[in-house]
Amino acid sequence: MNPNARIYVAGHRGLVGSAICRALEAGGYRNLVTRTHAELDLTDQAAVRAFFEEVRPEYVFLAAARVGGILANDTRPAEFIRDNLLIQTNVIDAAHRTGTRKLLFLGSSCIYPKHAPQPIKEEYLLSGPLEPTNEWYAVAKIAGIKMCQAYRRQYGFDAICAMPTNLYGPGDNFDLETSHVLPALIRKFHEAKESGAPSVTVWGTGTPRREFLHVDDLADACLFLMQHYEGEEIVNVGVGEDISIGELAELIRQAVGYTGAVVFDTTKPDGTPRKLLDVGRIHALGWRARIPLAEGIRATVEAYVDSLAAA
Ligand code: GDP
Repeated sequence: MNPNARIYVAGHRGLVGSAICRALEAGGYRNLVTRTHAELDLTDQAAVRAFFEEVRPEYVFLAAARVGGILANDTRPAEFIRDNLLIQTNVIDAAHRTGTRKLLFLGSSCIYPKHAPQPIKEEYLLSGPLEPTNEWYAVAKIAGIKMCQAYRRQYGFDAICAMPTNLYGPGDNFDLETSHVLPALIRKFHEAKESGAPSVTVWGTGTPRREFLHVDDLADACLFLMQHYEGEEIVNVGVGEDISIGELAELIRQAVGYTGAVVFDTTKPDGTPRKLLDVGRIHALGWRARIPLAEGIRATVEAYVDSLAAA
């Protein structure tokens, strides 16, 4: 990618897309193309084709998706499977047809089998049943991976796939009904501190383990892969370490400065017991995550409190 290359970031207002735009701008890329949801509905095939024919981006970061936490995935399965299949099929196909040089597709660690051995290697894909609470999203993302691989095999289209672990960072979704655990807990602890509530409720048993990657690290990895990786194999992007939800709650409690109790609501689902990616492949390519979790959480809490003040 040279600094004048025409680069389309799909989903530029989301957690991942906005971080990719920041990283591209910081890297001196001057020719970014973005469209808001109102300007371009990526589930509309004709609109996506017309956009690609007009703009002809040379590079595409496909960070647009319908995403959400355990509750949203579990209760809105039709939207998760439909919207993701449509968005990715439309964008990958239009990019290939209009001569895009390279496309990066973003998947997720939930594409792997629920009981995959830990840490999860890329080759465990499709080796067992999925976690039922998010299989709709996972099946769509797996179809996206297969589509990239098929277009590479049949048409020689340079589409690569990155599989990030659980992400967090500024600009995250803090809506308690649809968010992931980390932003949800930042909000819950902050609100409890403000209102002087005696306790904060954490869903599940607190024992599931998750790995958390700061979205600025992911964006850095996406630029790195766009520059240095060309291949059919998917590439995990993570930090290589995980913590329990109970430990995460404690870290967030401290970062927020809340002194009350933590209560576990075991009527809520735990989801998959553990989800830690094996990051050997991306380490061998020469990339590593840099932002420590405690530091990333502190910065995310600050950004959240600032955004409340600004609103
Ligand atoms: P997952 O990684 O796909 O399971 O998605 P989540 O980030 O939504 O949930 C991760 C784990 O955190 C699950 O075990 C949840 O039950 C647990 N958890 C605890 N409190 C919360 C909360 O307030 N919101 C969410 N989304 N998850 C929570």
